[in-house]
Amino acid sequence: MKTPGLAIALGTVAALADVAGAIVLVKAHAVERSLRYFVALGAGFLMATTVLEMLPESMRVSGNLAPVLVMVGYCALHFLEHTVNAHFHFGEETHSGEFVSLHTSYSVLGGLALHALFDGVAIGSGFAVSGALGWLIFAAIFLHKAPEGFTIASVMLASGGSRRNAFLAAVTLAVATVCGVMVIALAPRLVAFGLPLSAGVALYVAATDLVPEVNREPGVRMALVFFAGVAGFLLLRLLAPAL
Ligand SMILES: [Zn+2]
Ligand SMILES: [Zn+2]
Repeated sequence: MKTPGLAIALGTVAALADVAGAIVLVKAHAVERSLRYFVALGAGFLMATTVLEMLPESMRVSGNLAPVLVMVGYCALHFLEHTVNAHFHFGEETHSGEFVSLHTSYSVLGGLALHALFDGVAIGSGFAVSGALGWLIFAAIFLHKAPEGFTIASVMLASGGSRRNAFLAAVTLAVATVCGVMVIALAPRLVAFGLPLSAGVALYVAATDLVPEVNREPGVRMALVFFAGVAGFLLLRLLAPAL
């Protein structure tokens, strides 16, 4: 087990970004546009980290079980985010009323809380393998955390919840993230399950939650930011091969 303290510290930083995203929605709506660039950048970086780092490492630590667990992680998130919930998408929830009832908003929170738990498991698993993998996964996860907090806060508001509800929902995601890190920090042997499961979850978040938001934006600019995320990952890998 390598540096569980660092894993927990960085997991907490990622968790606080959930809360920061909610504060942006509630207090500073003007910076909302820049959050969308984080979505595109985060999608590219997370996609590259998942495919080029998490999948090969999963094969190494879990062998033939890895692809099965990746698929399980992917399907579990699809079930909780989009099957249990008739209506959920990343970004600001502007459809209120029949689309987002108070009941729906709490089931969205449940789905996102499991997603956030696996964000934490991914960071914890990365650090259980090596400091380099831990840092890369932290960076990849961190980029979509503020948009994630923003999303849940807007879902709560669109369903008629109070600002306090919106804030507490983001805090719930932050707590789930830290719990995920703690699970692996306390039981590093679980990395054989945690890494491939969270790789499946990360694949879903990048390709199925974030990329459609990037594609919704008219024009080519946002689409290019996705490639900037991929390039950022490659550059980091090139500049710091030992990282
Ligand atoms: Zn909507
Ligand atoms: Zn997340």
